[in-house]
Amino acid sequence: MELECECGNACIKNSEEILLEIETAHSPCSICSPIKLKKFRPLKDQLNLDSINLQWGKCECGKRHIDYVMAHILKIMINEEIQHDRSTLRNSAVPLITPAYPLKNEPYLRENSLIVLASKMDEKCAEIIHREVSEVKAVLKGEIKNTVGIKDFSSSPHVYDLLAGCDLRCDLLNTPFGPICVHKNQSQIHIEVPRHRSPKITSVSLFIFDVANIPLMPPSSLWLYPITMITFKV
Ligand SMILES: [Zn+2]
Ligand SMILES: [Zn+2]
Repeated sequence: MELECECGNACIKNSEEILLEIETAHSPCSICSPIKLKKFRPLKDQLNLDSINLQWGKCECGKRHIDYVMAHILKIMINEEIQHDRSTLRNSAVPLITPAYPLKNEPYLRENSLIVLASKMDEKCAEIIHREVSEVKAVLKGEIKNTVGIKDFSSSPHVYDLLAGCDLRCDLLNTPFGPICVHKNQSQIHIEVPRHRSPKITSVSLFIFDVANIPLMPPSSLWLYPITMITFKV
C-alpha cells in the first residue's frame, strides 16, 4: 500500500527513491561554497543583513550550506522582531534536516529539506520563513528541552505547534536488516538523531534474534548494503 502524507504532497518517498538520493542528499557539489559564521557572535556583526536573500550563497546546483539557510531564517526573525538584533545563530532556532542520517560534515540543503524548531515564533514570521526560504519545509514552535510525547497514562500529550508547512520528515535508522526509513510528523513525536549504531535498535534486535533464532548479518554490511530498505510512517 502506498503511504500518503496528510498535506497531499509527495512528502513520503519510497525506500528505493531515498536509497538513490542519500549519497548526495546533503552533500555539496564540486562548486558549492561553504560560509564561515561564528555561532555565538551576533549575526549583524558578521555581515550586512540586507544582503541576505534566497539567492545569497545559493549554488548553481540549488543547494546552500546550512549556515546560509539559518542566517536567512534569523534575518527574518530579527526583521519581524521575534529575535532582537544582537541575536546569534546559536540561540535562534534548531535545524532538523530530512532525510536525516549520520553525516560526516555539515549539510548543504536543497528545497524542502529542513524543519525549523524555535521557542520564539509566531504565525506571521513562520509563514514568511516558509514562503521566502525554499529549503524550509515547516516551522515549529516549541522548546527542544520539552520532549514531545506522553509522560504517563494520566498526562495529556505534549506537542510542538506547527505554524507553517508540513512537518513530515524522515529518519534513516540502521538495523540488522538494513536501514529503515521512518517518516514522522515532527510536531507530534520526539526528536531522535540517527546514528550509525543505535543502542535502542541493538537491544531490540538482540532480543528478537535471541527469541526467533535469526542469524545476524555482519555489522559491516548494515549501512553499505541496504537491500531490505523499508519505508513506514509513525
Ligand atoms: Zn506533507
Ligand atoms: Zn553546488
